[in-house]
Amino acid sequence: MNITILDAHTTNPGDLTWAPLAALGALTVYEHTLPGEIIERAGDAEILLSNKTVLGRAEIEALPRLRYIGLLSTGYNVVDLQAARERGIPVTNIPAYSTASVAQQVFALLLELTNRTQLHSDSVRAGDWARSRDFSYQLSPLTELAGKTMGIIGFGRIGQAVAGIARAFGMEVLAYDPAQPLETLETVLRRADVLTLHCPLTDATQGLINRETLVLMKLGAILINTSRGPVLNEADVAEALRSGRLGALAADVLSAEPPPADNPLLAAPNCLITPHISWATKEARARLIDIAAENVRAFLAGKPVNVVN
Ligand code: NAD
Repeated sequence: MNITILDAHTTNPGDLTWAPLAALGALTVYEHTLPGEIIERAGDAEILLSNKTVLGRAEIEALPRLRYIGLLSTGYNVVDLQAARERGIPVTNIPAYSTASVAQQVFALLLELTNRTQLHSDSVRAGDWARSRDFSYQLSPLTELAGKTMGIIGFGRIGQAVAGIARAFGMEVLAYDPAQPLETLETVLRRADVLTLHCPLTDATQGLINRETLVLMKLGAILINTSRGPVLNEADVAEALRSGRLGALAADVLSAEPPPADNPLLAAPNCLITPHISWATKEARARLIDIAAENVRAFLAGKPVNVVN
C-alpha cells in the first residue's frame, strides 16, 4: 500500500517521527508540494495525506489509484468532498487533538498582555533594573485577571477548556453559543473584559467582530482570536486599536495566512500576533500523527473512522 504525505513540514518539521504511518505501508514524505506537483507526486499513492495542500476535483479525478484521503488537520475545506465521494474515496480528519494546546495559547497571549513579562525581562537584561533607584518598576500597566469577566464566543471543546482555566484564575465566565442555552451575544460583548473567540468560521461568524459589535464592547477590553482570521473584520479592529476603543488584540490567526504585508493588523498598536501556532505543541502534533495512523489502520481494516464525506 503506497502512502504519500504531500506537505509534512508543518506537522513534523523534524522533531517527531512518521513511524506510525511507515508501519502501515510504503511511505513517501514530501515537506511541501506546489499545486502543479500534486498529480505527479501522488500518482502512485493509494493513501494520500494532506494538511493544507488543496485536493480539488481535477486532482482527485486525475489520480486513478487513489483510495483514501487523510487530512492532517481538523478542518477539511481543502478537499472537494463531493468529488471524493463520487469515486468512493473516504476523506478523514483529525478531531480534537489540540484542544488543551489552543486553550493554553489563549492564556499565553492573555498573560503576555496583562503582565508584559517579555517587555520587563528585556528591560532588566538591558540594565534598567541595575540602574533603577527602586526595588521595583513597571513599564506598562499590570492587570489582575481575578474578578474580571471572560466572554467566550463558541462554547465547544476549546471554549469550555478556556472557561475552566479562566475560572481557575478567579474570572467570571459568560459564553454565547447558538447551540446552547447560554447568554446572548450582546450580553457577552457588553460585559466581557476579555473576549475570546472559539466559534468555527461560517457565514454567521465571518466578520462577527466589526465596527458595530466593537462599539458594544467595554472601552479598553481585550480581544483574543485563536479561531479563524475572517471572524474579525481586520480593518475595523485595527481602527478600534488605533482609537483605543479596543485595549488590545491578541491573534493567532489572520484572514490570509501567511498574511500580505499590508494586513492592517500588522501595523496596529497594542496587537500581539502569533503565526497560527495554537495547535502546534509537540504533544498535539504527536497526537495528530498517532490519530492519522489510526485513521489509516481503520480504513485498511475495512472500518474507516473520522470520515467527513
Ligand atoms: P467545536 O466544534 O467543539 O466548538 C465550536 C462551537 O462553536 C460549537 O459549540 C458551536 O455550536 C459553536 N458555534 C457555531 N456557530 C456559532 C456562532 N455563530 N456563534 C458562536 N458559536 C458558534 O470546535 P473546537 O474544537 O472548540 O474549535 C473551535 C475553533 O477553533 C475551530 O472551528 C477552529 O476554527 C479553531 N481552531 C484553531 C486552532 C489554531 O491552531 N489556532 C486549532 C484548533 C481549532
